[in-house]
Amino acid sequence: MQAYKVADPGDLIKLDAMENPYTWPESVKTDWLKRLAEVELNRYPDPAADLLRQSLRKNMAVPDSCELLLGNGSDELIQIILIAVAKPGSTVLAPTPSFVMYKLSAEMVGLKFNAVSLDQKDFDLDLQAMLAAIEQHKPSVIFLAYPNNPTGNLFNRDSVVSLIEQSDALVVVDEAYYAFSDQTFMADLDRYDNLLVMRTVSKLGLAGLRLGLLIGKPQWLAEFDKVRLPYNINSLTQTSARFVLENNEFLEGQTRQICEQRSALYQAMNDLSDLDVWPSSANFLLFRASKMSADKVFQGLKQGGVLIKNMDKASLMLSGCLRVTVGTEEENCIFLSTLKSILKLG
Ligand SMILES: *Cc1c(COP(=O)(O)O)cnc(C)c1O
Repeated sequence: MQAYKVADPGDLIKLDAMENPYTWPESVKTDWLKRLAEVELNRYPDPAADLLRQSLRKNMAVPDSCELLLGNGSDELIQIILIAVAKPGSTVLAPTPSFVMYKLSAEMVGLKFNAVSLDQKDFDLDLQAMLAAIEQHKPSVIFLAYPNNPTGNLFNRDSVVSLIEQSDALVVVDEAYYAFSDQTFMADLDRYDNLLVMRTVSKLGLAGLRLGLLIGKPQWLAEFDKVRLPYNINSLTQTSARFVLENNEFLEGQTRQICEQRSALYQAMNDLSDLDVWPSSANFLLFRASKMSADKVFQGLKQGGVLIKNMDKASLMLSGCLRVTVGTEEENCIFLSTLKSILKLG
């Protein structure tokens, strides 16, 4: 195994991790600090985070038939699900390329991970190949990132429904980028007992809090709750998340700005010759320089003061690809002009 490595950004403009680039209004910050000062750090947190779960239930339109389980980021929820289903012979299925933690966490708990390639052209699900893999491997869990990371697209909705309907597996629809896509399977939870919806506040603008949520039928969540460590959501996170949910207008404004910037950045990149860029329903764009290696583009940007993510080695299908997070207008301008000068130098 290898430890999960994160690049040190130093003074670089950080467009590598799908973070929200904006800061908080001063008045919101002041009110938040007042709330934090009331937290009793000598006491353990509320073990079930009841108040926070109530706020999240309202804010995220969780169906009445469903329960909510919180994790220290959705990374922890992925691990909890996998620990709960891990028994000799169990397997996990996900399309590839997709979010790396599905595979890493599956293998960490001794599960066999099977990956099915996405369609090379538009990165959509290859439904026939997925169904064949389900038939062959009888997975316990299927992970679908919706929108997908690192490709940015939403899978065909009917294909996702087919997978839910035609398999006995638990299907986890990972909606980490929900805020930027507005597409969700939340309302479908009522209809399917094997569906779970996962969200996180990270990409929304609260990556530092480490808070993810899993929504599904109470019978499932009761099983997952057995392998959750006590007090996994700390007091500062519980209090901060509740505060933000009560004062979330500023975050909604920031999300709209990010979506506007995404369109502008996509247009500008799409206008460049020798550059392929894929449409995105998330807060990042996948792109490829057709006449230059990803390493060269990555290093050139770094020298120009911008850190993005090189996806070249992540999968064969992503050969030559890089992923850039949508930043502020100013950050995107610097990224664009640096990229243009690199492409021109050839
Ligand atoms: C970033 C990301 C996550 C992890 O989110 P955390 O809540 O920060 O752990 C999960 N799924 C996908 C698809 C992601 O891109």
